[in-house]
Amino acid sequence: MGTFEGNKKSGTFKVPLRYDRQALFYHIGAYGQKKLLESRVTILGCGGLGSVSANSLARAGIGNLRLVDKDVVDFSNLGRQVLYDEIDASKNRPKALAAGQKLRMINSEINIEVHEADINPGNIKKFLRGSDIIIDGTDNLETRLLINETCIKEKIPWVYGSVAASYGMAAAIIPGITPCFYCIFGPESTQHNIYSESSSNVGILNTAVNVVSSIQCAEAIKYLTGNFKAITEGLIIFDIWELSLDIIAVSNKKGYRCPICSYGFD
Ligand SMILES: [Zn+2]
Repeated sequence: MGTFEGNKKSGTFKVPLRYDRQALFYHIGAYGQKKLLESRVTILGCGGLGSVSANSLARAGIGNLRLVDKDVVDFSNLGRQVLYDEIDASKNRPKALAAGQKLRMINSEINIEVHEADINPGNIKKFLRGSDIIIDGTDNLETRLLINETCIKEKIPWVYGSVAASYGMAAAIIPGITPCFYCIFGPESTQHNIYSESSSNVGILNTAVNVVSSIQCAEAIKYLTGNFKAITEGLIIFDIWELSLDIIAVSNKKGYRCPICSYGFD
């Protein structure tokens, strides 16, 4: 995927101390860090995956973070939703506001924009506008199909993630380059079973949430720093309990043509 690698040109950019260790990482470097500080990332949903991702990306120095969530914090969230505390839960504070406040204490040098809103067909474009990449922190198939269709139309990359019990999935979706979410989970797919399972019926391990979020953020950082060849193509599936990890390629079925992204094989 492209030939540019982020570390080659560091220029005269002076890396702030808080990013020193990250910028020492060969594939990021000073130039990659500068790219991250110039980046705009939107996180849709600030529950388990979204709050862990927001924490990682704020500390990584994403210069402009936009958070969207409609829910309020309760005590059942505290086991895995790292940005919230007992005060947020006892006051049922809106997640977007509580997350924004906590993130500003973690990194006051980046711009953080918060929206208390559900994502729907009427407002999604507004939330995606100007974003370099989207992180999926939502919890249902319908919203993910909406994100996918809108991102393909607007040519904005997004990173899918979902998690239940001890297992999870993730995929980087780069319009025009990788297969899209519909290619992976379209009507012919057999992967739907995870959508009947959620933290409220099969439970969830916080360590599984952390792994999915880490995969999503790593894929986003690869993209934002120009490390395109390192982006994982296909559906990443893991189980933290069994410690298994697989990458499943989209099958190259002859005659397949995706109605959403036109990816396919003649
Ligand atoms: Zn597709």
